[in-house]
Amino acid sequence: MNKKLANWGNYPVIEGDEETFVFADQLDRLIEKEQPYIARGNGRCYGDASLAERTISTLKFDKILSFNIADGVFECQSGITLDQILAVIVPEGWFLPVTPGTKFITIGGALGSDVHGKNHHVDGSISNHVIEFDLVLESGEMILCSADNYPDLFEATLGGMGLTGVISRVKFRLKKIETSYIKQKQVKAKNLQELITLFDTYKDYTYSVAWIDCLKKGDGFGRSILLLGEHATINDLDEGKKADPLKMPGNKQITFPINMPWWVLNKLTVKAFNFLYYGKNFKKEINNVVSYEPFFYPLDKILHWNRLYGKKGFVQYQFVLPLDAKDGLIEIMHRISDEGLGSFLAVLKVFGKQESMISFPKEGYTLALDFPVRNGLLEFLDELDKIVLKYNGRLYMSKDARMKPETLQSGYPELDRFKSIIKKYNPQGKIRSAQSDRLLLTGTK
Ligand SMILES: Cc1cc2nc3c(=O)[nH]c(=O)nc-3n(C[C@H](O)[C@H](O)[C@H](O)COP(=O)(O)OP(=O)(O)OC[C@H]3O[C@@H](n4cnc5c(N)ncnc54)[C@H](O)[C@@H]3O)c2cc1C
Repeated sequence: MNKKLANWGNYPVIEGDEETFVFADQLDRLIEKEQPYIARGNGRCYGDASLAERTISTLKFDKILSFNIADGVFECQSGITLDQILAVIVPEGWFLPVTPGTKFITIGGALGSDVHGKNHHVDGSISNHVIEFDLVLESGEMILCSADNYPDLFEATLGGMGLTGVISRVKFRLKKIETSYIKQKQVKAKNLQELITLFDTYKDYTYSVAWIDCLKKGDGFGRSILLLGEHATINDLDEGKKADPLKMPGNKQITFPINMPWWVLNKLTVKAFNFLYYGKNFKKEINNVVSYEPFFYPLDKILHWNRLYGKKGFVQYQFVLPLDAKDGLIEIMHRISDEGLGSFLAVLKVFGKQESMISFPKEGYTLALDFPVRNGLLEFLDELDKIVLKYNGRLYMSKDARMKPETLQSGYPELDRFKSIIKKYNPQGKIRSAQSDRLLLTGTK
């Protein structure tokens, strides 16, 4: 039964079918059908990567298969969410080795996008922690992939946006923690130059991310708050918290009920940022200990916050530029601020070195910014693409809903190798998404 399908940005919306499975043999039967398909996790990619006329949802395929508490090796079916995993591992003193800014994604989706977190410069992306996975090809054959077994398929699947097959089982390494708390430091930067210096000063911190005010002009251009963190040890906790150092955070959430005009969001974020920046208690620097939840997942508190962007939805634009391309960062931020089309806040992170075929991260600065969909936006983003490419950068496919095939080709030097691996293992071209067709990653239907 066709229904309207969209991912987190609510753009684009397509008519499609979502088929589910609970057991592996049911997945086999779905794959045997003639119609093309794409694997779908929790739809938290922003654009059209997990959209197609026929999607195979993994959400009901969500069992834990093994958890070695001594070694921190975790094995599960691909549809389990990070939220479900955290509930089991944190009380045992383990954490996700890498987590994006939401816990409402599946582990299959994490591999499909090869997600990164605030610790990329130290720990790399999720692919650096994967031991092996099972991948079901369009022929129905299941292949065990690891760095040594089918290495080409292993590499092309991590960040390959579901185009090599359906990941059904994942085994990966966790990170040891003493407590469920984060020792957090917040530092104010008065402009972009100062922020870049601060990133360098604090580069040994495991976690770092900055929220930048995109509207401020003149000397204050790029004023921001840099958020740094380390997993707290028992000694970092006050007596009250020491009694239960691995306590799970409470689960209070609010749901955003309706679609809002996008400018309401801008007003709200302006208020929130100003509150933090100018709040009377907010000195140049704040140090405190917080639960992991507000540190890693501040937005998850408000369910359906994407409705704040209204019915037409929004596009998240995320690019990475090499470390020496600071001028590019400034040029792009100036263009966005002059145009006044973007949301008020941008998120800046630093990536460390990463060698990979199709994954997004490469050493440099990555900036993410939301743009409500409205007239002129797509043309404007095409202009930004040119600047990104001029500075040898690239865009994140997991956030993309509109890039042109040439932009992808120029940003990813190993794209042709990726395409040849898709063809080798899936010669019939049955695995395809709205995005892969748009980006000419999959051949003609
Ligand atoms: C608030 C928010 C914050 C975010 N922060 C970050 C961040 O900090 N870093 C980051 O990297 N990303 C971030 N993201 C993006 C998100 O982590 C990725 O898009 C992730 O892939 C979504 O996973 P999902 O389970 O929702 O999968 P979907 O969105 O449904 O699918 C994503 C891709 O994975 C493929 N896929 C899904 N399941 C499988 C499977 N079993 N086998 C093969 N392929 C599969 C799909 O085909 C698709 O190409 C954020 C998203 C949101 C909404």
